[in-house]
Amino acid sequence: MPKPTFPAVSILGYPRIGPNRELKKALESHWAQRTDEAALHAAARELQNSDLAKLTELGLDPTDASLPGDFAYYDQVLDATVALSALPTRFADLAETNGTIDTAASFILARGDESRAPLEMTKWFDTNYHYLVPEIGETSPIKANALPLVESFKSHAAKGHTIRPVLVGPISYLLLAKAEDRAAVGFDPLDRIDEVVDAYAQILVSLAAAGAPWVQLDEPALVTDRGAALAVPGALAQAVYTKLAAATQRPAILVTTGYGTAGDSARPGATAGLLARAGIEAVHVDLVRGAIPQAGFLGDLAGSTLVGGIVDSRNIWRNDLSASLALLTSLGAEVDKAGGTLAVGTATSLQHVPHDVALESNLPAHLPEWLAFANQKVAEAIILAKGINEGAAVIAAELSAAESAISRRTGFSGTTVARVRERLGNLTTVDFRRADAGIRKDAQEQALALPPLPTTTIGSFPQTTEVRAARAAHRSGTLDEAAYEGFLKEEIARVVALQEKLGLDVLVHGEAERNDMVQYFAENFDGFSETENGWVQSYGSRATRPSILWGDVTRPAAFTVPWITHAASLTDKPLKGMLTGPVTILAWSFIRDDVPLALSANQVALALRDEIADLQEAGIGIIQVDEPALRELLPLRAADQSAYLNWAVDSFRLARSGAADSTQIHTHLCYSEFGEIIEAIDALDADVTSIEAARSRMEVTEDLTSYGYSRGIGPGVYDIHSPRVPSTQEISELIGIALGSLDPKALWINPDCGLKTRGYAETEASLANLVEAAAAARANL
Ligand code: GLN
Ligand code: ZN
Repeated sequence: MPKPTFPAVSILGYPRIGPNRELKKALESHWAQRTDEAALHAAARELQNSDLAKLTELGLDPTDASLPGDFAYYDQVLDATVALSALPTRFADLAETNGTIDTAASFILARGDESRAPLEMTKWFDTNYHYLVPEIGETSPIKANALPLVESFKSHAAKGHTIRPVLVGPISYLLLAKAEDRAAVGFDPLDRIDEVVDAYAQILVSLAAAGAPWVQLDEPALVTDRGAALAVPGALAQAVYTKLAAATQRPAILVTTGYGTAGDSARPGATAGLLARAGIEAVHVDLVRGAIPQAGFLGDLAGSTLVGGIVDSRNIWRNDLSASLALLTSLGAEVDKAGGTLAVGTATSLQHVPHDVALESNLPAHLPEWLAFANQKVAEAIILAKGINEGAAVIAAELSAAESAISRRTGFSGTTVARVRERLGNLTTVDFRRADAGIRKDAQEQALALPPLPTTTIGSFPQTTEVRAARAAHRSGTLDEAAYEGFLKEEIARVVALQEKLGLDVLVHGEAERNDMVQYFAENFDGFSETENGWVQSYGSRATRPSILWGDVTRPAAFTVPWITHAASLTDKPLKGMLTGPVTILAWSFIRDDVPLALSANQVALALRDEIADLQEAGIGIIQVDEPALRELLPLRAADQSAYLNWAVDSFRLARSGAADSTQIHTHLCYSEFGEIIEAIDALDADVTSIEAARSRMEVTEDLTSYGYSRGIGPGVYDIHSPRVPSTQEISELIGIALGSLDPKALWINPDCGLKTRGYAETEASLANLVEAAAAARANL
């Protein structure tokens, strides 16, 4: 029997939060108990209907499963947990009588309750999206629950939308999971693959019974080193998909592999061929981040469809349609030779880009025509499918419109700024180096005269409703410049006075003027622009509005200096200036696709270098350059990592190497496990590194010292991610652990991270305990 052919064009997924963040509003009002669950479901269904109608209007066929059913209230991995009824043992009491997880229980997994922390949240591949980590044990439940998927399919079908249900695939699900704490040493969630595959097979059968012609299983983990090893001939992926393909009465299956190259990266396309031979009807490859399948590697596609993910779904640039068409045409010839059919799609789900450029009215005039958000990208995929199926002539107008927009982009005055390029061209190795750490240390001891075990914070103080209201009023024009400045200065004075009262040693200004640690910098540099509605889901109901880096970066004027010097003028204690580092600024922005990221990083570094010079000139003796995203951009494949770390570290060093020996440079890292980047952290060569460490009970401190890191270190002594106030005793214990592996002269005492999301009550109480614990430790030195 011939395999069914996948639609000529589709997308892997669509933003879920809604063009006006409808889902956020519905979720948050439900969580606040202002609306009941029925109202939440109704709001979500209405949003989904209007999204599907939009996709249909843009040209996706509503009758042939071109429409992705990738809706999720909170997270797609959480939804797979629900589909598998995979309740971690510590949440076992939440199970319904038939073992399933209902909506209310899923929110407890996502958000925790009085007695339990939620599922851990971690970054989804190398993106800024966070998923909820499944916790699997030897005997934790795994039982198919197709009902939510089936109901969703049916209700959309009733409205004329034949969706393609989307589910994280079985291998990725288990690779993204972690073993339950109580599991035996050596237990690996992947040990449970057989049961998981059986459950998926049952879900497929239920979906077929509901009438779903296609289902999409996302297997992005096959592009990581660990997953890639499972995606070669004879390995797990072949067995898993042979088994799923053999399920009787199932929908046709699309397996997607976004975020890189699946399987052996020296044989791009081979995994697609392998899955096709296993009996899978359609396999997707990422043509943006992944390698282009080469002649010969696809092997035998056995009548399957290869979905070419040609439209970039991680970035917001208008597609170079001519180049894409050429690529698809030659790939199409290879696919044809291998016995398959080529379809057009996106590189990954469009969940990583905002909805629609048309919602922007404040972008600089040159920018809109360079951009494509989700809706524009859907249109691009449709045009490209038309081009390969009906010939380039049919889409001549679109090709030429894209070409002229791209040539205006290349030629635009801010795209390439000669004096920036010249300055970069003139850099030599000395621009990346400071004097030896020992020399700096002596100079800083003299200049700063700090007590042993100095106490400090990471930068931000609570952003109260008043602070946010003042910023909003300033933005909208109801609070004028002078009044806003006055408000911020008072806020700074309050924060400085509080720190003095608490007895902290190194003070900060509190960052009240910053909406966001990246956007604030983007707003003050040329080469970046901000959107009004460019929201992208970060996790759950939270979304961020990444800035767009479109040109060479320059700094028109010093911008942090006035606030920081104002704070310094109010105290005799040393005041630490606060900047965001180049890698983090880029990681949380949409970046250029026309220059290497390393080049943009060095441009941002030079702008920061000028700011550091100005801060130093204004008498600021301690400057912190935050790089919390250093680990986040680490390439998924080990083979690509050292090249990244080299330029990432270099950009940090370039930013801070203009500082005098006596100026103490701090950095701050958080949000991740640091095991793989210890060497890079040392290579940053900061005088003091503050680092998230409370939850891991100082693990990283040991890792760093055993690596040979010997400068200042501030392992966080309490977790700021919850309002809980740590006792003096708890903090003392952590200080004790740190002192076990550290030279006391190197240790700083600080919280894990900035305090911006906390309230003042817990912040004051926690910092008071921190100061007390530090004093006790000092007395015992
Ligand atoms: N200086 C920033 C703050 O305190 C650092 C935030 C972070 O590390 N994520 O808010
Ligand atoms: Zn942090």
